[in-house]
Amino acid sequence: MKLLSGNFYYRKQAKQAPRWVRGQLPITEDGHFGAFREDNSADGDYFLPGFCDVHCHIGFAAVGELATPQEALAQAQADLGCGILAIRDCGNLEYAPGILDNPALPPIIRCGRHIARPKRYMRLLPVEVENLSDLPQVMAKQAERSDGWVKIVADWIDRSKGADSDLDPLWPTEILKEGIAAAHEAGARVTAHAFSHKAIAGLLDAGIDCIEHGSGIDANQAQECARRGIPVTPTLLQVELFNQFAAQAGQKYPVYAATMQKMWEQRREHFAMLHAAGVHLLPGTDSGGYQPHGELGRELSLWERGGVETWEIIDFATWRARDYLGIGAIEPGARADYLRYSSDPIGDPKVAVKPEKVALLGKEFPGKVPTS
Ligand SMILES: [Zn+2]
Repeated sequence: MKLLSGNFYYRKQAKQAPRWVRGQLPITEDGHFGAFREDNSADGDYFLPGFCDVHCHIGFAAVGELATPQEALAQAQADLGCGILAIRDCGNLEYAPGILDNPALPPIIRCGRHIARPKRYMRLLPVEVENLSDLPQVMAKQAERSDGWVKIVADWIDRSKGADSDLDPLWPTEILKEGIAAAHEAGARVTAHAFSHKAIAGLLDAGIDCIEHGSGIDANQAQECARRGIPVTPTLLQVELFNQFAAQAGQKYPVYAATMQKMWEQRREHFAMLHAAGVHLLPGTDSGGYQPHGELGRELSLWERGGVETWEIIDFATWRARDYLGIGAIEPGARADYLRYSSDPIGDPKVAVKPEKVALLGKEFPGKVPTS
């Protein structure tokens, strides 16, 4: 039995905001936490529960390309280095050997493959559904292949409309309802890629569990998400690129370009609106494809710029995300995954993502060494 001693970012009751509490925390032989014991005389380092990245694609290199096994391993290591100790992959292909169930890498909760309609997502990545009526069985199948999550693409540009092409929903609400019910029946929760406003009402009607990007959620829908406990992964690093997507679409797809540009211009107010409405925000970097791995600090800095206080950012990215994923934080029986610092990391997300040590199942590895 190992014993950690020092300052723990701890909450005594569910839903309470965590705060620094001095004490001792035992770790069992098999790498799980025992019961935390408060002790005001305890002295030592500062400990946070591990960060989560709930939207991360290990194995995707540049857009539309797959990483080599060595690149995929380096991606997972970069994530670990910045303190990401749990990943929901949010849609992936097969993993290179040595990534899943590797005790020296963050545990991965798989979502199966992205599910899209033909030509309505990035090439290579999705399972494509030709006949709409097949959606429920496809979702049930991905549910079986995942760790309790299914990822659907809810909207994408529909290029068949030529110059009038816009971001449009892929699925009629009725079939979405059946699909989500089939995934639930198979024991999985469902999350959806959704940039546009047009896709959100159908997702909410159909009983979606979680929304990725969510840049088109309006104020009433944000309140509904807050009321129903539907979290949103705002992926602000990705939304920062919307003006580039608009520029690339340019002359050929002016309607789509205008939609993307408008969301880009409103991105800061939009994020502040989601937060003010009380939406449960989930940390997601969207690494793989457009974003490099190991960049959680850049994402969380955008949250800070959006007006969320640092203690709350850390709570969202650790305790609350871990609760939502069902993996536990500092509580008896949870994996002894934690971040260690020699001084208080709360106050600057850029510091918090440079832990001196990261621990998986009680075993410590070097973190990203602070550079400043
Ligand atoms: Zn993504």
